[in-house]
Amino acid sequence: MQPAAAASAAPPFSCQECGAGCDGAVRCGGCGALAFCCDAHRRRHCAPRGRHAPEDCARMASQLARGAALLAPPFAWCKKAPQQLCRMLAALGCHDAPAWSAACPLHGPAARPDAAPWLPAPGAPPAASARGDWERAWHVPADGGGAPAWRHRWGAAQPGAAAVASWAAHYAAAGLSPASPAALLLHAPLTLWHVLARVLPAHGRPLPPVNSQLEVFYLGARGELSFLPCFLETALLLPPGTRLSVHMIGPDVPPALDGRAVTWAELPGGRLTRGLTVALWHGSFHSVQAAWARRRAAGGEGARAIPAGAPHLVFAPNAGLPAFESWRPTLQLLAAGGRARGDDEGGGGGAGAPPFVATDYCEEAAHQSQLLLQALLPPSGAPPGAAPLAAAVNPFRCPVPAGGHGTPLPACGNALLFGWV
Ligand SMILES: [Zn+2]
Ligand SMILES: [Zn+2]
Ligand SMILES: [Zn+2]
Repeated sequence: MQPAAAASAAPPFSCQECGAGCDGAVRCGGCGALAFCCDAHRRRHCAPRGRHAPEDCARMASQLARGAALLAPPFAWCKKAPQQLCRMLAALGCHDAPAWSAACPLHGPAARPDAAPWLPAPGAPPAASARGDWERAWHVPADGGGAPAWRHRWGAAQPGAAAVASWAAHYAAAGLSPASPAALLLHAPLTLWHVLARVLPAHGRPLPPVNSQLEVFYLGARGELSFLPCFLETALLLPPGTRLSVHMIGPDVPPALDGRAVTWAELPGGRLTRGLTVALWHGSFHSVQAAWARRRAAGGEGARAIPAGAPHLVFAPNAGLPAFESWRPTLQLLAAGGRARGDDEGGGGGAGAPPFVATDYCEEAAHQSQLLLQALLPPSGAPPGAAPLAAAVNPFRCPVPAGGHGTPLPACGNALLFGWV
């Protein structure tokens, strides 16, 4: 996940000419979507017409005009300033729990991935302890009390896939009050669910049959490490018997956690109905793939958590594809079928590129990402046999705006979805 700048300290925008922080008082006269530190830098960037490159300027002007409505906050509390939201979490008594401090709009962006307290000790067998970890992640008091505004109702009746199309529908189904800040924790798990259960099936990639394994490569994991058990929400919404396996991969996964895995399961009456396994891998996807190939060849313990075949989905939240050079080899590897050269083990090889869905913070970021995909994979931006996914607003985007993204364009985490299917 691409880190957002802390909303408190940094100036809200950066000058498009020199990169200095600025307050947005000086902007491109054409679109109003680019900010500058001073009039001299505005004139240099926007000369000779008084607006920057005409095609870009017109596109960004319309993005700015519709952005606020497109990314409208879903609940009244989402309109509070980051400082107020921070105080709200503190008043609810949950701010200092790892998951919530990582989700705090004021402190979360600067939070480092913690040591993932949910993981069992190295060498321990995967645990099937769902409820305790889930409640610790949600910080539900042991006495079962607590503020109804944020308590989660474990085991609430889960509606069918079609019913959960918005935050309001999910809150109603999960027994959450509209005043609950739960969406701060749930936007990543529910975005993943939305992609698996709604976006992929709409493009000819249905969920696997009941009682099967569903494997996801989750690229660029960062803050997610602080709320791993919340991905149980994804698993609980999937059809009964589905075992969801999420491989969290990224340079921000601490090296000490590489290869560690944890399993949680829903066990009503001792019978497994749904389960979630999360495995952690340190490094960029292409380097992790190479390491998997080596470990597969070596066999033994080290190979235990390695995925057996091609994933159902490769998911890259808040990816910033054009911003990070390391995406290029990863995207080329994915387009070639997602297997490192010489790695023939484990099935799935030669089956074509797995679906790749990314998110980014604003329309312009999604647009620039799609241009990069088209340049890497001409002409459509998708590998052979796959179709590009038109950028679409994500109904489960982060409910509060993201600050510190350089331009005055409305932005929030997981705002738009794009990629290929
Ligand atoms: Zn400047
Ligand atoms: Zn402009
Ligand atoms: Zn805070």
